Amino acid sequence: MSTAPGRVYLVGGGPGSEDLLTVAAVNALRIADVVFYDRLAPHENLATLAPGALLVDVGKRPGHHPVGQDGIERMVVERALGGETVVRLKGGDSYVFGRGSEEVLACRRAGVEVTVIPGVSSAFAVPAAVGIPLTHREVSHLFTVVSGHAPLTASELEHLAGLGGTIVVLMGIGTLPSLVQGLLSNGMSRTMPVAIIERGYSATQRTTISELAAVTEDSARAGVVSPAVMVIGEVVHLAHEGDGTAAELLARARGLASTG
Ligand code: SAH
Repeated sequence: MSTAPGRVYLVGGGPGSEDLLTVAAVNALRIADVVFYDRLAPHENLATLAPGALLVDVGKRPGHHPVGQDGIERMVVERALGGETVVRLKGGDSYVFGRGSEEVLACRRAGVEVTVIPGVSSAFAVPAAVGIPLTHREVSHLFTVVSGHAPLTASELEHLAGLGGTIVVLMGIGTLPSLVQGLLSNGMSRTMPVAIIERGYSATQRTTISELAAVTEDSARAGVVSPAVMVIGEVVHLAHEGDGTAAELLARARGLASTG
């Protein structure tokens, strides 16, 4: 092992499809000595993408972290201090609910050089996989990305319901009932369309479309599970609808209750 200092690449791996790795991510993997990867990152073909690397599954999924954040940071830093080129491969983008900034700080504190390579976040990529744009002229000119890891506060729910535009929820399956209840009680329309896309970009990707007042029941009946991205807003009417005008598409989709 060399005594020259190594370095860390904190790589956003995108939503799971190898096609959605950036060129910078592929280049970092190619020169890696060790890759610490999360399950939501594309990992099936890592042996080819990172031919010289030891591959370490740190198995991070919502609610299941076998190694733990501190342990991951310690291993990453130790390897880099030992002179290795370390890739820390995370799902989506490392700075979107990814604790990426904590890992960057751990490297900096240890005097380890770290480069952040942004990734394609599931927040917009997973809706795009089923044709849902987060913005569309005359339909939505803003989007808010929310973590459903813990229930939102009453004040957050009030502001969220009043904001308009598109709401995207990550890690939201466990807290779905309280989010829905909070939005309804703050005046959001009962018929606001909602899409839940499970396992985006995998062979088992599945979309459930419903309306705000019915989505808790519909998603329970469908057996919706994490990982999933939820989209709440009129843009859901545009799912898989080609290039008609928003007004036409909205008119056509009125009354839509549930599709598979
Ligand atoms: N940093 C990541 C998000 C980490 S939080 C990013 O930018 O995408 C983990 C959550 O992301 C999951 O609970 C789920 O809500 C969402 N997610 C990530 N990849 C996904 C995928 N392929 N399909 C559906 N949801 C996904």
